Amino acid sequence: MFRLFTIFLLFSAVYAKHEIYEGASVYELEVENEAQSKVVSMLEDQLALDVWSHPGPSRSGMILVPKNSKEEFAYKLRLAGIKFRTTVDNVKEQLDLEDRLLAAAAASSRIPSESDSKAALPLDRVYQWEEVEAYMQRLARAYPDKVTLVSGGISFEGRPINYLRISTTNFQDSSKPVVFMQSLLHCREWIGQAATLYALEKLLVDNTESDLINNIDWIIVPTANPDGYVHTHEANRYWRKNRKDGLFINDICMGVDLNRNYDIFWSTESSNSVCSDTFHGRAPFSEPETAVTKKILDEHTDRIELFLDIHSFGSYVLYGYGSGQLPSNGLALHLVGVLIGEAIDAVKLRTNPNYTVGNVALTLYPASGSSQDYAQSLGIPYSYTLELPAYRGSATLTGFLVDPEFVEQAGYETWEGIKAGARFALNSYRTRKGIH
Ligand SMILES: [Zn+2]
Repeated sequence: MFRLFTIFLLFSAVYAKHEIYEGASVYELEVENEAQSKVVSMLEDQLALDVWSHPGPSRSGMILVPKNSKEEFAYKLRLAGIKFRTTVDNVKEQLDLEDRLLAAAAASSRIPSESDSKAALPLDRVYQWEEVEAYMQRLARAYPDKVTLVSGGISFEGRPINYLRISTTNFQDSSKPVVFMQSLLHCREWIGQAATLYALEKLLVDNTESDLINNIDWIIVPTANPDGYVHTHEANRYWRKNRKDGLFINDICMGVDLNRNYDIFWSTESSNSVCSDTFHGRAPFSEPETAVTKKILDEHTDRIELFLDIHSFGSYVLYGYGSGQLPSNGLALHLVGVLIGEAIDAVKLRTNPNYTVGNVALTLYPASGSSQDYAQSLGIPYSYTLELPAYRGSATLTGFLVDPEFVEQAGYETWEGIKAGARFALNSYRTRKGIH
């Protein structure tokens, strides 16, 4: 009897997963004018909708709508004459499918043990936070002359925000530029992890291009938002923010959008409401996670030539500013963005679209307080947000969900872009500093 009960409990735990998304749908919609855009923004606030991508004049938008709001949402769209269609009927079914695919991928290969210190990590799956932490520690032990594990700070829930410094000269040689990259600042954008883990592998475990590590120092933050990331695995797959408590006791809402919390145009193109997915926090750098980036950038402002914040989804290389104003090196910024995008396009899957390169506000939408803008504002010449496609362009999984069949490819193709950017950065740094 007891055993039966245990089985029942286990079953309900599995069954209960993603329950909040039972009957929720994803809609794709097109707006034709400013008035219709306003209706969408209004609905976004009123119904607390999760806007995955904003509809623009030449681009359809994708919005996740909870089951209980679907009727009102559809009614108001029709009233405003906005064209829409359902792309995912029941979001929970897709989440269950992603779980099954990822579990099968995880079962098919083995993570190297502690003693196997220099063994490669299988790159065809999504790793839990603890697994990535263990891997970083393993790399630091296996390559003590090249890798330093740094604890940048402690998250709201008490997790260390760790990153790796990679250098053959312990960061002492200022004739080398630094390339910075981070992933999972928006924790649901899981595919970003593929890019940072792939980079670690190709710099350390399986390095076939020694110029990348001999001439360049690297700072890599695989999990920029650990609390949020754990939450996406354990409770809510579509969580985007960190896990900071609400402003008031018993506040039903919580979390700060970390990519609106940096001190650049802070609060001008983000939300003041803690319930919003773009809540900018109480003050610039109020969050321990963004403070980590600030500290790194402050320490290495002079040497960071290329700054990359890895997100999903879409296929974009985006640069600042989020206000729509271009940095003074706008043309060069665009050209290097094109280099990165073209290098990815050359090896990407044919089923995925080409990368689009552009100013974030003009290409997608205005945004303030982003890490990319903050880095740019400090004078770091080449600062980008990469939006990776999260899936294979197939209809099985959409949006942020990850198809394990695509993970290794995502790491590989993005690395091609990163290498192109890093090599350009090396030359431009040397020119800028008069190093020959
Ligand atoms: Zn993002």
